[in-house]
Amino acid sequence: MTNDELDTRDPLLIVGAHAFDAEVMGGAAAAQWSAHGGLVVIAHISLGERGHHSKSAQEYGQQKREEALRAAEILGAEARFFDQPDTDPDGVDRVGQELATVVRQVRPGTVVTHWRGSWHPDHVAAYQATVQALLLSGLKATTETGTAHEPRTLLFGENWEDGEDFRPDTYMDVTDAYATWQDALAAYEIGRVPAPGFPYRDYYSALARMRGCVIGAGYAEAFQAAPVEMMAGLGLGLQGRWRGSSGEGS
Ligand SMILES: [Zn+2]
Repeated sequence: MTNDELDTRDPLLIVGAHAFDAEVMGGAAAAQWSAHGGLVVIAHISLGERGHHSKSAQEYGQQKREEALRAAEILGAEARFFDQPDTDPDGVDRVGQELATVVRQVRPGTVVTHWRGSWHPDHVAAYQATVQALLLSGLKATTETGTAHEPRTLLFGENWEDGEDFRPDTYMDVTDAYATWQDALAAYEIGRVPAPGFPYRDYYSALARMRGCVIGAGYAEAFQAAPVEMMAGLGLGLQGRWRGSSGEGS
């Protein structure tokens, strides 16, 4: 996908395991999307409330929720929370079902979530819940949560904890949205410099510049498109591919 192929008429849904994950993987794309008038929904499966070096989970969870709301406001996005406990990946089924309802409500054209190659169990669970949600949301036999919906595109975002076999193949020029994205990252305590622990802002700012270099842009976000077998299995974006392969059109 390139910016020329960006169709912001359909909503963008970004699913992150912990508040701040969605923003680092697809926050600049979100800002770009909303600047073009598109609807963006950011789904935070958990707040990541256990990640602070000195604050209690209760205190930090409240802080992260407020930070996520502020970041969404800056990005021109809507934040939704699934209240899954941090470092507790056992809720995949519940989250997947709730996320399926959101997919049917929001009806995104593009969905971004974690790549499965992560050492972090919550990130793997977010990947699994999103795939489950897209499977459920497309089932026409399931009618109680709304009309079936199949997005056109499923992309996996770039995350420092999800690097195993990640192969970016889809780049978005986010130069115009870079400053807004930086402001959104700074809405989080862990997105400000200097931060104790991992230097998130340095890492993701440098990453955006590096990805921008390879496409001749100021800054870019990189994604890995879902493999065609998964797209076929989930019923995503198929019409063009099937018509193309049968020689009936493009
Ligand atoms: Zn995370």
